Amino acid sequence: MLNIMFQTIKNIKNSYFIIFLLTFLLSNFKTTNAEIIYNGTLIDAHSQVGILISNEEVSKEINNNDVFLTFLSMRGKHENATKRYKSIQKQTQGKVRYLISTKLKGFARKKRDPNEAIRGIKDLKRQAINNKIKYIGFGEIIVQHAPHDHEKLKYEGINLDLKSYRIKKAIDIVFKDDVPVILHVEMNDYEEDSKKILDQLIEIGNEYPNKIFLLMHMAQIEFEEAKFIFENTKNVHFITSHSDPYRAKNEKRKRLGKAQTGWINLFNKKNNLKKKWKNLMNENPNRFVFAIDNVFDHHWKKNYKERVYFWRKALASLNKNTASLIACGNANTYFKLKIQCK
Ligand SMILES: [Zn+2]
Repeated sequence: MLNIMFQTIKNIKNSYFIIFLLTFLLSNFKTTNAEIIYNGTLIDAHSQVGILISNEEVSKEINNNDVFLTFLSMRGKHENATKRYKSIQKQTQGKVRYLISTKLKGFARKKRDPNEAIRGIKDLKRQAINNKIKYIGFGEIIVQHAPHDHEKLKYEGINLDLKSYRIKKAIDIVFKDDVPVILHVEMNDYEEDSKKILDQLIEIGNEYPNKIFLLMHMAQIEFEEAKFIFENTKNVHFITSHSDPYRAKNEKRKRLGKAQTGWINLFNKKNNLKKKWKNLMNENPNRFVFAIDNVFDHHWKKNYKERVYFWRKALASLNKNTASLIACGNANTYFKLKIQCK
């Protein structure tokens, strides 16, 4: 009898062990499943190249990544912009497209003469045309930008709105080419003006129903405000740059008061897209455009590949059609690229 009892206990132990083993294997299987990534064509619809990185270095990073096309706008010296772009284009064998920078002549410096800044954009456009560059649009227009006190950028900040003289003038230039208007607003860093900016975005979207407006860095927007924009416009969309955990680590910055602290994070602690944002994307697949927006040298050199992989995983969690549109299809349509998104 005792023997049988021991045997039973042993069996129970064994079956527990088997259950434990199965659970372990299954949960492991699950995590490998979560690593499914979106393998289709990926476009980075806005990145920047400045003086801290060479053409060779940027080209190397672009060539080392599986981003199909990178839209580039230049920082730094006005005179070198198209020359630099052409060099990168050559070294990457055409993996880049040109966005004419709107900020090279002090556009976002509030003390700078706005007319000079506007002339600077027109000069750059002329420079691109003279150099036979088929530009696809213009880089982000800085409407609001928190002050920076950083070794890589010292900057007093600017807080304009869509009715400001220089913003209207810049938008007019973009309108002439019938390409998307990319706006950089900071609805979180300038929370006190977010209602005004929100109303103006809806107003301009409806006033120009045939134009496309793209809000860089998700406009640092709150979820409800994003929904509000979708409900009230058809042509105001979001660019996903600076909305992942890589840029949202703001605590240190907040303490030091060194730069923007308002970047939003579309991801939860497990690095999955938050459910509400994921649903919003699936319900509105045409309203998001993927971009990384590398700005400084370390954005290109550190974690770039990792970030692309991170986003490919996020895209894989969306409906297939949604992922393909955000990764490639929407940029293809809005910038009239005429490429094939695979
Ligand atoms: Zn920006």
